[in-house]
Amino acid sequence: MTQTYRITLLPGDGIGPEIMAVAVDVLKAVGRQFDLSFEFQEALIGGAAIDATNSPLPEETLTTCRNSDAVLLAAIGGYKWDTLPRSQRPETGLLGLRAGLGLFANLRPATILPQLIDASSLKREVVEGVDIMVVRELTGGIYFGQPRGVFTMESGEKRGVNTMAYTDSEIDRIGRVAFETARKRQGKLCSVDKANVLEVSQLWRDRMTALAEQYPDVELSHLYVDNAAMQLLRWPKQFDTIVTGNLFGDILSDAAAMLTGSIGMLPSASLGESGPGVFEPVHGSAPDIAGQDKANPLAQVLSAAMMLRYALDQPAAATRIEKAVERVLDQGDRTGDIMSEGKNLLGCRAMGDSLLTALEALAQG
Ligand code: NAD
Repeated sequence: MTQTYRITLLPGDGIGPEIMAVAVDVLKAVGRQFDLSFEFQEALIGGAAIDATNSPLPEETLTTCRNSDAVLLAAIGGYKWDTLPRSQRPETGLLGLRAGLGLFANLRPATILPQLIDASSLKREVVEGVDIMVVRELTGGIYFGQPRGVFTMESGEKRGVNTMAYTDSEIDRIGRVAFETARKRQGKLCSVDKANVLEVSQLWRDRMTALAEQYPDVELSHLYVDNAAMQLLRWPKQFDTIVTGNLFGDILSDAAAMLTGSIGMLPSASLGESGPGVFEPVHGSAPDIAGQDKANPLAQVLSAAMMLRYALDQPAAATRIEKAVERVLDQGDRTGDIMSEGKNLLGCRAMGDSLLTALEALAQG
């Protein structure tokens, strides 16, 4: 029997609509192969939503997302909206979506594909075999803590304030996701904090240490964030799963992304306790190349594969997509961001066509 899923599509801004179109074609093709049917509903977020409704996250968008099985997001933001007040900025829509769906866990794999080792700025022996999962807390910490704002003091001087705060329960729930994730991988979890300076980090470290007792099969270690940044570049293969707070995770996951050569290759999943998860590339809306058919659609396509695996429980269809990505890379197809000598330079649409051909070939066996 055909299985039907309701998927909300949020193409957003910049290269978003271009890469989303490729992912939708890939999902339709793989759906035909595995007897899956998708009801796609498109909704507005970010700059596109500001232009149409004056809000970066219209209530209608949140409702549509809540009523779906999963949300596939591309990217938001662009120069045009950079000068708006913070409450009306595209990023506020993204934070609102995460909060509105209770997405407290962000899973970002940084896996180096053998075909792209030379696209990394690090030496082959350093990056070969890197396979890291960064589990980032997404709805707490300094991005949400109160008080926040820019206040004028009695002296007339302005003072900008943000607050980094975590409760026991916020730390425990992201900790459990991380321990469970590590358990399914190599069983090694590194918790990253700044416990030598920050009280909030000391609490983080204490809770992670306490949780470890419930996961005797997972080996827990701790690193300060500055050392973690250094170790990621020095010897990334020492890491299996990393768990960290919102701010440190934002920065470290981008650093981990660059180990793999291009931010245009990396998917992510944001999950809550229940309800639909959001699946999106790690990269932004790349306004510098938007509308030029230059974007790499592979992170978006791999996000769709993560959606099939984590939200829709269709691992075979997910693997088929991942294999198609490997196949196009094997045959030398590259977008500009991962281009190297002797390879075939393709635009976003042509890369999509190549993926569809690869999917067809894989279905033939
Ligand atoms: P970015 O990720 O958009 O771009 C960084 C660089 O990587 C650019 O040179 C870009 O051309 C390139 N790049 C990114 N994705 C690519 C792809 N798929 N194919 C080829 N090249 C790619 O980051 P930025 O320039 O710092 O931010 C641009 C806008 O995106 C800003 O408005 C920012 O707020 C927003 N942003 C959104 C998200 C999100 O939607 N989750 C994340 C990060 C940044």
